[in-house]
Amino acid sequence: MLSRISDIFESPVRYVMVSFTDLHGVLRAKLVPKSHLNSVLETGAGFAGFAIGSVGQGPHDPDLTVRPDLSHWIPLNDAPDIAWTIGNLLLDGQPWHFCTRSLLQKVTEELRQQGIQAKVGIEAEFYLVKETENGHIIPADTYDRAAKTCYQLDVLARHLPFLTDAIDGLESLGIDVYQVDHEDGPSQFEINWVYDDALVTADRFSFLRFWVKRVAQREGLIATFMPKPFSHLTGSGAHVHLSLWDTHTGRNLFDDPTDPSGLSMMAHHFIAGVLSHAAALTAFVAPTVNSYKRLSSPTSLSGATWSPTTITVGANNRTHLIRIPGPGRFEFRAMDSSVNPYLGLAALLVAGFDGIRRRLPNIEPSKENMYGLSSTEIVDRHISRLPGSLDRALDALEADPLFSDAFGDAFIKGFLAYKRSEWDEYHQTVSPQEIQHYLFQ
Ligand code: ADP
Ligand code: MG
Ligand code: MG
Ligand code: MG
Ligand code: MG
Repeated sequence: MLSRISDIFESPVRYVMVSFTDLHGVLRAKLVPKSHLNSVLETGAGFAGFAIGSVGQGPHDPDLTVRPDLSHWIPLNDAPDIAWTIGNLLLDGQPWHFCTRSLLQKVTEELRQQGIQAKVGIEAEFYLVKETENGHIIPADTYDRAAKTCYQLDVLARHLPFLTDAIDGLESLGIDVYQVDHEDGPSQFEINWVYDDALVTADRFSFLRFWVKRVAQREGLIATFMPKPFSHLTGSGAHVHLSLWDTHTGRNLFDDPTDPSGLSMMAHHFIAGVLSHAAALTAFVAPTVNSYKRLSSPTSLSGATWSPTTITVGANNRTHLIRIPGPGRFEFRAMDSSVNPYLGLAALLVAGFDGIRRRLPNIEPSKENMYGLSSTEIVDRHISRLPGSLDRALDALEADPLFSDAFGDAFIKGFLAYKRSEWDEYHQTVSPQEIQHYLFQ
């Protein structure tokens, strides 16, 4: 994925997709013939902000522009004359304060100045679906019906053409895939690739969502990263694994072999920071109405949702918000596949660093099965829950000043206003569940 700028001019690439990520993590792009790439590098490709529903942009406002970052360009392996690039959004030539890629870059740059690099892995879960003749969306593989379908070999084998195409493409683009599995839901899969710098991983996750959808389409399928496409089936998460590294010595600052969890004090402070801001953080990492159908679901056909409901830390235990899978890193399980990865990771880093700054005390990792606790037990033990809906997460965000300080007041106000209107729009629809529940009451 990392190539020198000059290489693109010497390569067989003829067209460049000049992309950016909008506030919601959706990639948008213009196609630029290589003969015009120089002018786009100088002045940027223009986009009407209002057309993409950008916060604070009216139809009368000047264009947002994108200059591609040509240290990261990717020739598509199924169309080598097309390259994918990504850049930051500018307004009047200045970094635009709603550009989430710039936000993550700013946060990671501040860390780099302190000699720290954040390294991140994201697990990408998604469903393959298809549309029936009467317009219903169902899991694509109609033979995949077992309740405990996870890792089933015959299902994996039926999807080899799709899976190997997807992996080949990702690998040829420099994304080092090490495992793919059939996940907990029918026609649900997960792709794992090797962790890297936070910004590089965010770029790769953005690209991966585009790529997986493209390959699925070639097979006549639809790939969806919606967090909870089916009420009774496991949702699609995007767990984050995180560690901090010393840029001078190359040492993992989260590693401490003398600690029972294999974590340094810095890691413990960081985790405590994430917990202390978890409710507000949820608005960024689980940013859609649908995200909370994944997070609040009591169970699923397989017997577990694999998503967290409580603001707690587990040992190597998948029923908590934070899991410690091994020494030197932690896993954060609230994030889902609808995330804007730049914003989600920037918020996670800001929350964790606040814990380091405040030297928040170590929280003992629990071995308890949180799925086994009743609501009453959770209340009796004073265990905090994650917000159960988008509007509650937005209230928590509004009440937590950390993110306004880090991202700016205008960003948080704009984000809240946009997301509240998304919630209101959802809330104004009468659902079939309400008809069933109240119509004959
Ligand atoms: P699990 O399903 O057990 O949660 P996966 O193997 O699916 O784990 O994903 C683990 C992710 O963690 C991968 O992206 C991997 O590269 C990443 N990872 C491993 N070690 C570290 C580390 N020290 N820092 C950040 N990410 C890491
Ligand atoms: Mg036009
Ligand atoms: Mg995994
Ligand atoms: Mg998984
Ligand atoms: Mg995981």
